[in-house]
Amino acid sequence: NEVLRLEAVGKTYGKNGPAPVEVLHGLDLTVARGEVVALVAPSGAGKSTLLHIAGLLDTPDSGRVLLNGRDMTGLGDKARTQARRRELGFVYQFHHLLPEFTAAENIVLPQLANAVPARQARLRAADLLDRVGLGPRADHRPAELSGGEQQRVAFCRALANSPALLLADEPTGNLDPETSDRVFGVLMDLVRDTGLSALIATHNHDLAARMDRVIRLDERLA
Ligand code: ADP
Ligand code: ADP
Repeated sequence: NEVLRLEAVGKTYGKNGPAPVEVLHGLDLTVARGEVVALVAPSGAGKSTLLHIAGLLDTPDSGRVLLNGRDMTGLGDKARTQARRRELGFVYQFHHLLPEFTAAENIVLPQLANAVPARQARLRAADLLDRVGLGPRADHRPAELSGGEQQRVAFCRALANSPALLLADEPTGNLDPETSDRVFGVLMDLVRDTGLSALIATHNHDLAARMDRVIRLDERLA
């Protein structure tokens, strides 16, 4: 019962050039349903490459990517985009919220893109904001929110379409240590409450230790 399975995934940049860079080689990785996995990797080990491949933003040179048991390898752009919108949620180090829209609107918009009726989308946004303690901030724009609050809104947006898997790259990396710790706790509660599966890249070993399992990228490479 796996949400994500990477099988013998390989990726080399500049394959046909003079100086190819092999980043991933025979990488196997799974995320079970409801499991929260930490991805710890030193800079340059291929963390971003792996997240892009798992997020269907890039394709591996070899191996397979299965999402909810479905082989994504070789799907066309349109099918991949659709799978990304419906089944995956993304959180980055920086929130990337749309500055001209309110917190609630930032959570409503991706649902409208998935043809969710507006009223239902607004209810979903309000519920998610309540869960992260931002109900009273629903009508504030990102600039009116603190860094930690902006990131909590970004978590809600990632969950807006009830994805099967959350992919996060240093989700609290731009916050001071105390805020990072607190906001990470909010993310974990949100993930646990909704039964979401997650692959979360972090350099922070304390945060990694709070997840179900830790994958270290350097150790996987020969
Ligand atoms: P990380 O996120 O762990 O720092 P990346 O996945 O971004 O690592 O990159 C891994 C390696 O691949 C690095 O050596 C990087 O320079 C190289 N790399 C990444 N993207 C490209 C690219 N588009 N073309 C060539 N080399 C790349
Ligand atoms: P923290 O130190 O808790 O990360 P700040 O000191 O930046 O947060 O902000 C404290 C509170 O003031 C937060 O709840 C934030 O939403 C609110 N706030 C910050 N800037 C504005 C603003 N321009 N308009 C309205 N509320 C704001």
